[in-house]
Amino acid sequence: MTATRILVLNSGSSSVKYQLLDMRDNSRLAMGLVERIGEETSRLKHTPLGTGAEPREQNRPIADHDEALKAVAAELSHDGLGLDSPELAAIGHRVVHGGQTFTQPTVIDDAVLAEVERLIPVAPLHNPANLTGIRTAMALRPDLPQVAVFDTAFHTTMPESAARYAIDVKTADEHRIRRYGFHGTSHAYVSRKTAELLGRAPEDVNVIVLHLGNGASASAVRGGVCVDTSMGLTPLEGLVMGTRSGDVDPAVIFHLMRVGKMSADEIDVLLNKKSGLTGLCGDNDMREIRRRIDEGDQEARLAFDIYIHRLKKYIGSYYAVLGRVDAIAFTAGVGENAAPVREAAVAGLEELGLAVDGELNAARSDEPRVISPEYARVAVAVVPTDEELEIARQTYALVAKQAAERND
Ligand code: AMP
Repeated sequence: MTATRILVLNSGSSSVKYQLLDMRDNSRLAMGLVERIGEETSRLKHTPLGTGAEPREQNRPIADHDEALKAVAAELSHDGLGLDSPELAAIGHRVVHGGQTFTQPTVIDDAVLAEVERLIPVAPLHNPANLTGIRTAMALRPDLPQVAVFDTAFHTTMPESAARYAIDVKTADEHRIRRYGFHGTSHAYVSRKTAELLGRAPEDVNVIVLHLGNGASASAVRGGVCVDTSMGLTPLEGLVMGTRSGDVDPAVIFHLMRVGKMSADEIDVLLNKKSGLTGLCGDNDMREIRRRIDEGDQEARLAFDIYIHRLKKYIGSYYAVLGRVDAIAFTAGVGENAAPVREAAVAGLEELGLAVDGELNAARSDEPRVISPEYARVAVAVVPTDEELEIARQTYALVAKQAAERND
């Protein structure tokens, strides 16, 4: 197979994010974003990379995903990187929910589309948007392999003891209620990179990955295999997030219904959009929260403390799940940038072999790095995530394998 470029598409309900990569050296050729699709104020921002060309912007109504993707294709053509190029090997799509069906990246055909559609009840916000993006791209390049890379796939290795809720089995099965986990592409990438950073094979390393962005999740990875993760049926469970509550007693919901007279939809919005750091202190950006704490703001302080307390509980419980931990890896917006979060998360855990070196923790870098002192038994690492590269890597590996099997 001579084609080496992969276009990665991440389609939301009113947005499309994209990156074009060359898998010979994992370099990025272009990236961009179309947002507010279907509104008057749509915007396309396209950034050619490596050529020195300036980013370009279009501010005009873009009616739907079809128009959005055609506009992206035109921008790529402008840079000599058109979707009709023979160098384009495949399109890799981020798909949020693959249920129990999809444990691996999968070449998309009608059966795959039907199954992703069947999973809409468990991912009502995400899967329809992902499907629209896929169908649009397939119409544009019907001859090109299109690959779905699922956010849930990395977590399908979880044992039943971690994946099941302790609720009536018949009811759970009827409604496909179980813990699926999300951010899997990031957890896969970061756990592998952490092993690389330590100079060891992924099979030999146990890692707790803390993906702390606006959404946040933790995972316990034993020898490259996920054995537990903090998000569940939906991305609401687990850690305190930017606007999501994470774990609450489920009875809070009945209480709000019965006593607070709130509807299911209102509680959904409350827990997903108006809770977490936003609900606790009015801000979801960790930079702003740290600034307020430095000024003595008690509300911001408490929000930070609740965030850290939950994080510590997950570190402790995944330590117990794994038995032996070789590394803890911090990633995503907060994990990569907020040194005070990293410091507070492992403070007092010296007995577990955990510590950070103040100077290493404070140093800024875009590279994976160890921030624990020499003597610490467990490596604490900062490992920038790269979900687009991981989607491209998995997509390319799959189409290259299939081409080799066909002797292309
Ligand atoms: P993500 O979802 O991974 O893009 O992460 C976004 C979040 O990262 C923002 O809401 C901030 O809370 C956080 N963040 C980004 N940059 C910084 C920074 N320099 N310091 C602290 N937090 C940051």
